[in-house]
Amino acid sequence: MIAVIKNGTTQKQLDSFCEWLKSQGVGVHLSTGEYQTVIGLIGDTSRIDEDMLNGLEIVESVKRISDPFKSANRKFHPDDSVIDISGTTTVGGSIFGAIAGPCSIESEEQIITVAKAVKASGATMLRGGAFKPRTSPYDFQGLRADGIELLLEAKKETGLPIVTEIMNANHLPLFEDVDVIQVGARNMQNFELLKELGKTRKPILLKRGLANTLKELLMSAEYIMAGGNENVILCERGVRTFETYTRNTLDLSAVPMLHELSHLPVIVDPSHATGLSRLVKPMALAAAACGADGIMIEVHNNPKAALCDGPQSLTPEQFDDVMKAVNKVLTVVNE
Ligand code: PEP
Ligand code: MN
Repeated sequence: MIAVIKNGTTQKQLDSFCEWLKSQGVGVHLSTGEYQTVIGLIGDTSRIDEDMLNGLEIVESVKRISDPFKSANRKFHPDDSVIDISGTTTVGGSIFGAIAGPCSIESEEQIITVAKAVKASGATMLRGGAFKPRTSPYDFQGLRADGIELLLEAKKETGLPIVTEIMNANHLPLFEDVDVIQVGARNMQNFELLKELGKTRKPILLKRGLANTLKELLMSAEYIMAGGNENVILCERGVRTFETYTRNTLDLSAVPMLHELSHLPVIVDPSHATGLSRLVKPMALAAAACGADGIMIEVHNNPKAALCDGPQSLTPEQFDDVMKAVNKVLTVVNE
């Protein structure tokens, strides 16, 4: 990190600033030019608040040279992370993850029917929302604890590891037998929730926020990892733009960019990214082609009657077709 010092700063102000920086655990390299004094901050600057420095009376500007994320950074962990999912499957590494299931768990019959169907088509994990973050408080909010029970039954029935969203850290005891805990887009920056998840060792599927940069996504991953939980899977699910034909705009360049910046696996959710079932297949194929470590797709046994996200949900038959096509793309990509 570099701080440019304002002209007219006294030696006394400069000395006390340098002393303070050292007390924060960073080395200081002073470069005094004829017209400008520049301070180089050396070492781990992740705890130095850029905005705070910028606000100091003697500081003209601040530039961060290194990334503010450390644990998630590929520079310090060159190999791809492979996240173990309860000893059953992995995300990252050689297996292409396919997480499928309904937006929300609605009944025993629904979740078991979908679970069996997606397993037969090659899904590696079953998803289903029990706690649903809905825009309207009058919409179906999920079956909550009962939904998790039904998801566990589907896990028992099929052997598929399960993924479901948490909205409140107080609910963690209910997630004991859940294999992957999802943090939804709306909670990507719920830092208190992220800190609590950092204390667990469960794999966390962290979805990109509605209007968040990749750096912000990685900083949220950092919150979980800083607590000691290294098992983070990143998920690109589209961001909000001026476009209205699609629910969100799928940012596929996030996949190679995140792979460059971080060792964490990256999956793509074409369902929430587009909001339209007919766009899910082409975007799933594109995700496989651009190097994603997996996909997450909403599948419902009767999308027209779905209590949540029906228009973007595939039928089991459509999901089967997507999986066959994705496998063809993967064969070419892995050649
Ligand atoms: C979901 O996966 O059902 C969901 C609510 O997704 P997002 O947080 O990406 O909107
Ligand atoms: Mn959904």
